[in-house]
Amino acid sequence: MSAAAPTVGVLALQGDIAGHLRHLERAGARAVAVRRPGELREVNGLVLPGGESTAMSRLLDAHGMQGPVAERLGDGLPVYGSCAGMILLASLVLDTRPDAGWFSAIDMTVRRNAFGRQVDSFETDLAIPPLGPEPMRTVFIRAPWVETVGPDVDVLASVPTSDGHDRIVAVRQGHALATAFHPEVTDDVRMHRYFLDMIAGATS
Ligand code: GLN
Repeated sequence: MSAAAPTVGVLALQGDIAGHLRHLERAGARAVAVRRPGELREVNGLVLPGGESTAMSRLLDAHGMQGPVAERLGDGLPVYGSCAGMILLASLVLDTRPDAGWFSAIDMTVRRNAFGRQVDSFETDLAIPPLGPEPMRTVFIRAPWVETVGPDVDVLASVPTSDGHDRIVAVRQGHALATAFHPEVTDDVRMHRYFLDMIAGATS
């Protein structure tokens, strides 16, 4: 990308920070770790990585970041949440701890650890139309799924599950993107490129 590369932050309190920094750089961004409100002010977009959503929620509070992140998301900062990050963007979280918080950036109900014990972690090839015709290899690690979405949410991908349902695993609402899987653990940077396109659309 040119000198106009956006600066994209990865919330760096807990979880897979390095993978997202690497993928953002490969997709053409200037990627920075964000731990403090001052660092948050410098970014054109923010990634909430996978990890453990209840731990991340506690650390957001402990670092005085809950309010500043909520405020920037409310102002329309483009955001991408992966796995635990998806949980943090939900408007309602099921099967979480009573003291856990979240940002309500996407009108969706998300169930934590939804895929159950036998298939705690799995990989599958997923059709994600906005990324092009080639399916994406997706990795799910104690992943959530999206149980319901509001009318303004675009469903980008679903997976069939053993209970006979298709479960939603990738969504977008305006400036906010979320996936139940971890695109940062494969070589495919298309999801990060898609997020950079969202940032370009938001700032142009
Ligand atoms: N199960 C985790 C949680 O509830 C999410 C797992 C992940 O991010 N890989 O936060």
